[in-house]
Amino acid sequence: MLNPLFAANLLDRPRKIVLMYHSVPTLSQQTTQYDSTLAQFKQHLALLAQLHSQVVTLNTLMTTPDSQGLQIAVTFDDGYLDNLTNALPALTEYQFPATLFMVTRAAPAVSQWSPKPKPLLSQQQLQQLAQQGCWEIGGHTCHHLDLTSLSATQSQQQINNCKDDLEQLLGKAVNSFAYPFGRYQQHHVEQLAAAGFEYACTTRAGAVQPHTQPLTIPRITVFANDSAAMLLRKLTFISNKMSWFDVAGYYASRILKTKVAS
Ligand SMILES: [Zn+2]
Repeated sequence: MLNPLFAANLLDRPRKIVLMYHSVPTLSQQTTQYDSTLAQFKQHLALLAQLHSQVVTLNTLMTTPDSQGLQIAVTFDDGYLDNLTNALPALTEYQFPATLFMVTRAAPAVSQWSPKPKPLLSQQQLQQLAQQGCWEIGGHTCHHLDLTSLSATQSQQQINNCKDDLEQLLGKAVNSFAYPFGRYQQHHVEQLAAAGFEYACTTRAGAVQPHTQPLTIPRITVFANDSAAMLLRKLTFISNKMSWFDVAGYYASRILKTKVAS
């Protein structure tokens, strides 16, 4: 299944990538555009193992020096119940850790911001994930609000209270965050820093580079129906959207550049 051309391209230099997942439902009818079914998710994990990836938490990815090959942080936004029931057992098979960005005060505990609202983790279930799965838990605001739609006072409250909620529940410092809907402005970056967050993930496509700002980390978005082959293309070309048409365009432009240069 592994395309040797892509794998060689991927493994010939150090590369750090943060993957963004959401819900991991059992049935394909339950997916939104951002969800992967459990069957697909398992295929993605098999690919990461086949590539000899070092799968680590976000904190580890950001603090370890570059090494040969691929370092991956698997992240989940929102805090869906199926991250515990479906994703955790699949990850445990490979002894892969993950990072989860939790909405702390959704009431009722469902994703009302989603086109298909789904159950979220309870406080006890989140504790279980943190302990049993050695997962890193980060913040995702209290109510999954678009920070750019709030006043400065409101956004600072969403950031501060979310951090306090998680630290009280988990009994340890929480220093990572993901912007809801990937939306933020510069003053939100400053508010996160003031609250004591060290790392924050966006939805902008990219790999982690030496110059990456730790409070605006790019990620690769995994969409519903992304096959393992599509994930491999995304990892290779560092893009959220990588159809075969795009791949052909990439190689055509390289051939043209080579001809112009020669
Ligand atoms: Zn979200």
